[in-house]
Amino acid sequence: MKNTQQSFFHSTWWTIFYIFLQCTWGGLQSFLGFCLFLIHLKDPHDFYHGSIRTKWPTLNGISLGLFIFTPNEEQSGNVKWTSTDRNKIKDKCERISVHEFGHTYQSIILGPLYLFTVGITSLIWSRSKHYQSKRKEYGLSYSSLWTEKWANRLGEKILDRPSITH
Ligand SMILES: [Zn+2]
Repeated sequence: MKNTQQSFFHSTWWTIFYIFLQCTWGGLQSFLGFCLFLIHLKDPHDFYHGSIRTKWPTLNGISLGLFIFTPNEEQSGNVKWTSTDRNKIKDKCERISVHEFGHTYQSIILGPLYLFTVGITSLIWSRSKHYQSKRKEYGLSYSSLWTEKWANRLGEKILDRPSITH
């Protein structure tokens, strides 16, 4: 059963307000997200608890205001899943969606500061070769960085579903 807090975050008026906030206070990242959305217009899209989700053919996720981009569980070919188990792939994609959705709330909290705090920090953390090898060397999980831990916590709290664990 959903608690009061979760019911609040799933109410229609909050969803409308959430979209409004993403387009105004979080407008900077939402605009970039919209550009990325247009670039990936041909990929499948859906509404994910108020955000607009694009399932793109990569293993990475990204969150830009109103727009989130997550791996497409239906996609094979150029996407190299570590498992062939359909349910495991689906679960992984869902967990990434919860994580990226958590970032959308950081966008609401931080507004114009989002890109310059969470955005840049997590982009460098995820993509730079330096931090990739440091994570391996020290056995650190991807979620050990504050921006990622925070996104997991927000996503899990609002959606009541597990986020990524790696
Ligand atoms: Zn993240």
